[in-house]
Amino acid sequence: MGRDSESSFSTASLGEIGTSAMICIFCEQKGPSNTVAHIIPESLGGKNSPVGRPGVTCDACNLYFGQKVESKALASFPFIAHRIFSGIPSKKNSMPSMKATIGEIRATGMLGTIEVEPRSEYVDALVEAGDVTQFRILAEVTEPLAVCRMLLKIGLEKLGKHFYEVAAAPRVKAAREFSRRPRRGQAWWFILRCDPHQYVKDLRENTESSIEIVERAGVLFSVMNTSGASTMIPLEESAQPPSSSELPEPEFRIIHAVC
Ligand SMILES: [Zn+2]
Repeated sequence: MGRDSESSFSTASLGEIGTSAMICIFCEQKGPSNTVAHIIPESLGGKNSPVGRPGVTCDACNLYFGQKVESKALASFPFIAHRIFSGIPSKKNSMPSMKATIGEIRATGMLGTIEVEPRSEYVDALVEAGDVTQFRILAEVTEPLAVCRMLLKIGLEKLGKHFYEVAAAPRVKAAREFSRRPRRGQAWWFILRCDPHQYVKDLRENTESSIEIVERAGVLFSVMNTSGASTMIPLEESAQPPSSSELPEPEFRIIHAVC
């Protein structure tokens, strides 16, 4: 994402609030909060990313996000491609796969090595003969709602780690709601920047995923970079998506999600 008019989000010290005084920002209940999880899921290269702050998300909400939101989001584009090329299995140890023009491509568990299940004998013969040197994957966000909700959860946890009072404040209430319990008809959006060549480059260079909160024209955004894909999502409802002339396709896309 462009950085010219962005600034890293910072705020005057709001004073430390102890874990005992915290309630879960998503359900606003004071439930047990013992889950220690990386803010960026491990399967998105977040193994070395910071872990969430205890007390920000309760165990019940963490479980809910894992089962209902993240599993769906991580099994779809753009994140599935990251997992296939990096060879990252699911939590249940199955290898991720996705459809491509030549058939089904599957992770092998080895970085940068994939397995191809050709869709026909003809394609199989071409692959065997070495006549297929490239393939295309369907780069469509098929689960915009799940992806959007996961991105909000990641952003809010990052915000909550450093500025709990802001993450719990009315300013980002709509984002918390959309993430945990979207209302029918409620909509959100994010910007996706994809570069297929970047996948290979990032993997080769072992680029680590990153997450940061920025303030742009007075609005908080969460910016996440994983290999080959960057996302930028507003944490405030008032933000309007940029026009497509500002961020031209196909490099940038504005993805809308409606509940
Ligand atoms: Zn909760």
